[in-house]
Amino acid sequence: MINDFHYLKPASLKEALAMYAEHDDCKVICGGQSLLIVMRQGMVAPEYLLDIKHVKELSYIKFDEKDGLRIGATTTHREIEKSDIIAKKYPVLVAMEEKLASIQTRNWGTIGGNLAHADPAGDPGPVLIALNAEIKFGNSGGEKLVPLDEFFVDYFETQMEQGDLVLEVHVPAPEPKFGCAYQKFNLLDSDMGIVAAAASVTLNADGTCKDVRIVLGNAGPIPLRVTKAEDLLKGKKLDDALFAEAGTIASEECMPVADIHASEEHRRHVLGVLTKRMLKKAFEQAQTAA
Ligand SMILES: Cc1cc2nc3c(=O)[nH]c(=O)nc-3n(C[C@H](O)[C@H](O)[C@H](O)COP(=O)(O)OP(=O)(O)OC[C@H]3O[C@@H](n4cnc5c(N)ncnc54)[C@H](O)[C@@H]3O)c2cc1C
Repeated sequence: MINDFHYLKPASLKEALAMYAEHDDCKVICGGQSLLIVMRQGMVAPEYLLDIKHVKELSYIKFDEKDGLRIGATTTHREIEKSDIIAKKYPVLVAMEEKLASIQTRNWGTIGGNLAHADPAGDPGPVLIALNAEIKFGNSGGEKLVPLDEFFVDYFETQMEQGDLVLEVHVPAPEPKFGCAYQKFNLLDSDMGIVAAAASVTLNADGTCKDVRIVLGNAGPIPLRVTKAEDLLKGKKLDDALFAEAGTIASEECMPVADIHASEEHRRHVLGVLTKRMLKKAFEQAQTAA
């Protein structure tokens, strides 16, 4: 059962930020796909709900060849999945969205809500970090832009403070010879991942590795960069042996927990396998990219 609350419906971003600043015991609601669950469980019982779903200024997808991609916080998963420009420039984001929950949830759930909720099993976090994304958040006093891999602090906790709204996600324009792949391992299609791995690879003109990112999902309290494995690969001519070694490092460095879905050992094993496979996939994409 959900406790009574006062409902606030701002008409603009300015009004939303002002209302949020005025009310201490206040939670933001956007698609409600995560918040309503915890409210029904009684884990969260705010006095005020600030509904930002209709704040149109935060709903957009913009792309510029130099600046890259900008997605407003209230943009739904479905809008990202169906965006032609995202399909063309960042196909990994569309592939990730197609496997995120059901169409019904994707129609309501938003990118800002997903990242603010900071579920360690969330799909967008690892992919966006592999794409080197930044996140903009702020309150009536100002804004901050931080790399997304610094935004997550702990289980369901981010750098944001009371009064802060997620405003925008920025993904840089893809470099030449760039590839990015993501896969989650789950028993039910489109369910939250038991574990997941994202990898991106950028190659130099001579075929050596210019940059690489490996990000694990549901492998610890936050999306986990495996920097030890990234350092192993940087500057090298990549091959299957290196991908396997990186996979072994990922399975050692991750911090998964056991639950009814899988043991810690099983999660470590699958994370190693997914890391190896996603690196190879990202590498092959980078080799054929313009
Ligand atoms: C059946 C089901 C299956 C799901 N499967 C998946 C899955 O496979 N993968 C996955 O990643 N997710 C999954 N989810 C989670 C869900 O899709 C996302 O978390 C959703 O995107 C949340 O967005 P929302 O707009 O609904 O957020 P809400 O539920 O409205 O809010 C979530 C949290 O974020 C805060 N918040 C919302 N917007 C903002 C903002 N702009 N600024 C600051 N704080 C904000 C709220 O206060 C709340 O704490 C699933 C959910 C359901 C119900």
